Amino acid sequence: MTDYQSLGVRPLINAYATMTKFGGSLMPPEVLAAMNEAATAFVDLQLLQRRVGERIAELTRNEAAYVTSGAAAGIVLASAAAVLYKQPDALKHFPKIAAFKDQAIVFRSQRNPYDYAIHQTGFKVTEIESDPAALRAAINERSACVFWFARGTDSVEDISLEAAIAIAAERDIPLIVDAAAQLPPVSNLWRFTEMGAALALFSGGKDLRGPQSSGLMLGRRDLIESIRPISNPNHGLGRPMKVGKEEMMGALAAVERYIKLDHAAREQYCEATVQLFCAALNPLPGVRAERAFPNEAGQPLPRCRVTIDQGVIGKSADDLVQAFLTQEPAIAVAPDSDASFYLNPMTLEPGEELIVRDACLKLLDEA
Ligand SMILES: *Cc1c(COP(=O)(O)O)cnc(C)c1O
Repeated sequence: MTDYQSLGVRPLINAYATMTKFGGSLMPPEVLAAMNEAATAFVDLQLLQRRVGERIAELTRNEAAYVTSGAAAGIVLASAAAVLYKQPDALKHFPKIAAFKDQAIVFRSQRNPYDYAIHQTGFKVTEIESDPAALRAAINERSACVFWFARGTDSVEDISLEAAIAIAAERDIPLIVDAAAQLPPVSNLWRFTEMGAALALFSGGKDLRGPQSSGLMLGRRDLIESIRPISNPNHGLGRPMKVGKEEMMGALAAVERYIKLDHAAREQYCEATVQLFCAALNPLPGVRAERAFPNEAGQPLPRCRVTIDQGVIGKSADDLVQAFLTQEPAIAVAPDSDASFYLNPMTLEPGEELIVRDACLKLLDEA
C-alpha cells in the first residue's frame, strides 16, 4: 500500500490555514473524479488548455483564462505576458530582456516573498510608496507592469486599487493582481478584472481545493495568448512550470464546484466552529478565546484567537503549537505571539472541529 503511514509521515488535521507547507487544501470528490478521468486518456494538451480556459473564463465572467502550475508560476508568466503582448520578439530572449521593458512596479507596503517570481522573468522590481503620485512618477518607458498584491478586507494602502488601475490604464501598462489567497469571496474571481485589472492570479490549491500544483490566470485575452508560445508543451520560460491534463481538468472541476458552493453554509460552519471553541475554552482559568475577523489573508471568514496567561498555564503559546503537532492525530494550529495562537476552521473537515476542541481542552488542562 502506497500511503503516508508506511513512509513514517503522519497525516495531520489542519486548523492553521491553506498553507502549502501542510499540503494547502484537500481535493473534494468532484475534483478527484475529474483528475482520475483525465488520467485515463491521451489528449492534445494545447487544445485542452484552450478549452478548459474557455470554460473557466465563462464560469468566472472573464474574457480569457489559463491554468498555471500555481499562483507563483502565474506571477512569472504574467510578468512575461506584460512584455510579450506588445513585443513578441522578446520570446526568445527571456530572461535577458534588458532590450525590452524590464521593470515591474511593486508597492512598498505590499512587498512579500513572492518577488523572486518577478525576478525570474528577468525583471527588476521598482519599489515605490503606496500613493498615486509615486505611481505616476514611477511609470516610464521601461515599465512593463504594476503588481498589486491583494490582501483582502484588511488592506491598508494609501492608494486604492481603483486609483492604481486608472493610473496604469492612463499610461497603457497592465496592472496584475496577485489574488492567490483571495478566495472567498467567490466574487473575487471576477471582481478584480471587472474593475479593470489586466490579469488576476489565483492559487488552485488554496480555498478552491483544486490540485496543489495548479493556479488560475484570469483576464485579458491578448495577454493570455502571448504566453502560449513559451508555455508547456512549447519550449521557453514557461516550460518548467508544466501543467498536466489532470491538473487542468482538476482545476476546472474545482472552479465549477466553487461557483456552485453554498458559501453561506460554509461561513455558518466557520462561525459555529469558532463559537464552539470559544464556549469550550473560555471557562478554563488563564485562557481567553475570542472571534477574530477577517483571517490572516484578509478573507472574510472568522478564526478563534486563543490567548493564554503563561503564569497560569505554565507554557508559552509556541510550546502549545508544538504540542498540538505531537497529538494523535496531529493538529496544526496557527502561531501568533508568545501568548496567543489561532484555531482556523476554514481547512477543517466536518467533525474535525470536535477533535480540535478536545485536544485543546486536554492540552490546556494538562498545563
Ligand atoms: C500562496 C500565495 C502565492 C503562491 O501561490 P501558489 O499557488 O502556492 O504558487 C502567491 N502569492 C500570494 C500572496 C500567496 O498567498
